[in-house]
Amino acid sequence: MSPLILKGLTKRYGATPVVDDLSLEIAAGRCHGLLGPNGAGKTTTLRLALGLIEADAGEIRLLGHRLPREAAAARQRVGVVPQADSLDPDFSVRENLLAYGRYFGLSRRETEARIPALLEFAGLSNKAEAKVPTLSGGMKRRLTLARSLINDPELIILDEPTTGLDPQARHLFWQCLRRLIQQGKTLLLTTHFMDEAERLCDRISIIDHGRIIAEDSPRALIERHIEPHVVEVFGEGLADWVGCGRSLCQRCEQAGETLFCYTDEPTAVTEAIDRQGGLRYLHRPANLEDVFLKLTGRDLRE
Ligand code: ADP
Repeated sequence: MSPLILKGLTKRYGATPVVDDLSLEIAAGRCHGLLGPNGAGKTTTLRLALGLIEADAGEIRLLGHRLPREAAAARQRVGVVPQADSLDPDFSVRENLLAYGRYFGLSRRETEARIPALLEFAGLSNKAEAKVPTLSGGMKRRLTLARSLINDPELIILDEPTTGLDPQARHLFWQCLRRLIQQGKTLLLTTHFMDEAERLCDRISIIDHGRIIAEDSPRALIERHIEPHVVEVFGEGLADWVGCGRSLCQRCEQAGETLFCYTDEPTAVTEAIDRQGGLRYLHRPANLEDVFLKLTGRDLRE
């Protein structure tokens, strides 16, 4: 059975639906990504799925439990990595894990028995006695992830887990997530990083205005929604060349000082750029970010 089933979920704040008749089913043992611009309704969807807020309409099944009635029982089997770190700054790494174990009703002995493996998993074995403020951002995030595993959850829900991390720390965090996937855990994550979603997720739902506007594997989303090649054109004389670019490719989008040419035939585009002189370009395969921008637009959402 799917660890999480949402059916016709709606949540309004005032008259505006923030989550709008949203249905979603995630597969056991897989990593499912929720992508969407700011304000699309991702966090609200996660909060509904955890029974932290009540829906105005729709059904939620979390690990077989009907929410909101059985939310407490369901949450016993779920791990949560919230957007902001909520570690206790007065406690050491070990004490944070002990406190969280108590929250799940584990005995001190049970929690203590689990701590060494969790610290090893998070690469924090030599930091057990360190106080939280002395940890780097990446360490804090990995501790939050380790903490979410204290109850050995079947499903782990992560809300933008790598926001604010530098590339090295993100890669280390991804390794931890991959290990969880290999262990058979189910992951549901929101992210603004398309490369993160493309690497980790088996399936992705793109959300906008509280609705799912596309859902598939990353590869299938790219194949279905976008031309395979992108030529990003920039440099002197671009304004004069835009018409030529538009005539040579299936779709063009101008963003700032760059013209994005989406095409099946990149050579025609790059040869024309070379003939023009002064222009520069980057030719690359289409990726998930191209799909995301096509479906949700390039306007800034703040
Ligand atoms: P996302 O996580 O995709 O950025 P959210 O789910 O946080 O989006 O928010 C979706 C929309 O709902 C936003 O416009 C936000 O301002 C609004 N919203 C979220 N929580 C509340 C609340 N408690 N009261 C009023 N509006 C809210």
